[in-house]
Amino acid sequence: MKHLTKELWFNTRTMREFINITPTVEELVRESGIQEGLCLVNAMHITASVFINDDEGGLHKDFDLWLEKLAPHEPVSSYRHNVGEENADAHMKRQIMGREVVVAITGGKLHFGPWEQIFYGEFDGGRRKRVLVKIIGE
Ligand code: ZN
Repeated sequence: MKHLTKELWFNTRTMREFINITPTVEELVRESGIQEGLCLVNAMHITASVFINDDEGGLHKDFDLWLEKLAPHEPVSSYRHNVGEENADAHMKRQIMGREVVVAITGGKLHFGPWEQIFYGEFDGGRRKRVLVKIIGE
């Protein structure tokens, strides 16, 4: 069995951001040489997500507004978690958008459905954070 493990680093300038990491993951699949297998991509922080959806700006704005309605950042005093920190909303946004994705590798390529792309979702940015990529197969 072949395998490849890599940590990707992010440091967004804004508090919340969606980044398409598909090209980077595709490059790692190529680097692994794996033809048939599985690719796990997970956020290593509890205030960030990895998810799959469409790379469409309007949809990303809709996600952001929807998440802000469900778990508004302000007022920070409305959350019990916010004793000494102010990121309770980011924990909740991460929980909704998910921790990880697993994509099949077929014929040396990520086996996506139509329009599927992999995104890093940041909800408490402005500091260095990581995503783990683990690829296994033959
Ligand atoms: Zn926290």
